[in-house]
Parts: sequence; C-alpha cells; structure tokens
Amino acid sequence: MDEFDLTGKTAVVTGGSRGIGRGIVHGLADAGADVAPLSRSTDDVEQVAAEVRNRGRESCVVTADVADGEDVARAFDAVRDELGPLDVVVNNAGINPDAALGTPERVDDEAFDHVLDVNLGGAFTCARVAAEDLADRGGSLVNVASVGGLVGLPRQHPYVASKHGLVGLTKSLALDWAPDVRVNCVAPGYVATDLTADLVENDELAASVRERTPLDRFAEPREIAAPVAFLAGAAASYITGGVLAVDGGWTAR
Ligand code: NAP
Repeated sequence: MDEFDLTGKTAVVTGGSRGIGRGIVHGLADAGADVAPLSRSTDDVEQVAAEVRNRGRESCVVTADVADGEDVARAFDAVRDELGPLDVVVNNAGINPDAALGTPERVDDEAFDHVLDVNLGGAFTCARVAAEDLADRGGSLVNVASVGGLVGLPRQHPYVASKHGLVGLTKSLALDWAPDVRVNCVAPGYVATDLTADLVENDELAASVRERTPLDRFAEPREIAAPVAFLAGAAASYITGGVLAVDGGWTAR
C-alpha cells in the first residue's frame, strides 16, 4: 500500500539518538523519509545520522535541548537548511529521573518543573517551531506519551503529570490545527531502553511488569516505531487527536 510510503518526506525525531527515538528514526527512514535525529549529544546524533545514511536516506547532525526554546528554533532552522521543510515531527524526547525518589513528598519543585519542562514544554516548543512548515505541507505531528499518560503510576508523579499533559496537548493541537496538520500520540507500555534499565535488570521488578502486561514481555523500540510511522503518513490520513496505546495490553485491564 502506497499510503505507508514516506518517500520524499522530511522528519525530525527528538530524542532520536537512543532507545525508542532511535528505533523511530530507523523506522521512518525504512519507510522512505529523510530523518534528523535530535538530542543533546553530538556523538550519539552523529552515529544515528550515519545509520540513516546507511539506509539510503538523507540525515544531518543537529543537537538541541528541547527545554530551551532558542536552541530548538536554531536546530529546526539547521534541519530545514540541510534537509528542507518539515513534513513530520515526532516529539519523543523524555525523561523520568524521579522514579527512584519514591514518595511524592520527596519530589521538590525544581525536580517537578524539570520533568515538565522537557517532556511537555519541550514538545509544545517543537510543535510551535514546526507549525508553519507542517501547515504548509499538510504535515503530521506525533507525540510519544506513555501508559502513564492514560492511567496513574505510583512513584512517578512529575512523569505521569507530564504524559497526561502531552495527551491533552495532542488533542487540543489537533483541534486548532485541523484540517491542515494532523496531531496524534502513541502511549507505549514498557520498552527495554536506557530509561527502563533499572527495571529490566531487576528480576523481581521485571517479572512484575511482565505479569501486568498481557503480552508478557517488554516491547522492543521497533514495535513503537511502526505505529509512529503509520500515524506520521497518509495511512492515517483520517486520524487526528488520536491516542494509540502500544502497550502489550497493559491498559486493557
Ligand atoms: P532513553 O533511552 O532514555 O532516550 C531518551 C532520548 O531523549 C535520548 O535520545 C536523549 O538524548 C533524549 N533527551 C533527553 N532529554 C533531552 C532533552 N532535554 N533535549 C533533547 N533530547 C533529550 O528513553 P526511551 O525509553 O527511549 O524513551 C523515549 C520516550 O518514550 C520518552 O518520551 C519516554 O517517556 C517514552 N516512553 C518510554 C517508555 C519505556 O518503557 N522506555 C515507555 C513509555 C514511554 P540525550 O540525553 O543525548 O539528550
């Protein structure tokens, strides 16, 4: 089906240097897009940009902290200069540093604000900076939320608040930007990446995640990338404001 082909599209994937984001970069490139992975680490971005080129697509090496609006504007300009105007933006960059802190009383304002600034503020900034391109080109924005954007999770309060916010942002941007730009999000369950390394490596915790997940395992990044590539392109042309759980059945319970 041609609707799954992203040939000729230019995409930016924030947090594209590792984990799920790297999987999304590979997935979009395999579907035909030129893709810029964006994160704060030049070495990692260089590596993933090379992986895109090895797949026969164009890429570029641009870094930014998504919590810094000026940095994001400069970076998106640099991507436009190298690859052309943007058709697809994937807001994937995200952090969850407070899971280890335990009870909400131990999360101070600074820690709370930092997570919100990256996970939610960063996504809004990238959306705003790309808005004109996306509108001109009938583009698509895909946000990477979490099951923590759909249900509560203990001991991850800033993260869960940010991901519920991201689901809300997805729906409200979809309303404001229709019919020119489609805006959707995926809500992954547990995926084996650096972010979940503590969980994956702890036998007891890993077993509890598997037990809670009907498909009985963690996801691989590629299994999040395919739904993102679907939402990014014409195959999802009548979907906007959507929230697609990619969670092995976690939220079906
Ligand atoms: P990860 O392996 O820790 O990778 C995070 C990526 O985001 C890296 O490329 C990192 O690169 C980048 N990043 C972090 N802070 C950034 C910032 N301020 N500015 C720009 N880039 C930044 O995480 P992951 O597991 O792949 O998670 C990716 C997304 O999926 C996140 O939004 C996460 O909440 C979501 N998610 C993950 C899971 C899971 O189980 N892993 C489940 C549900 C949802 P630098 O550090 O070099 O900047």
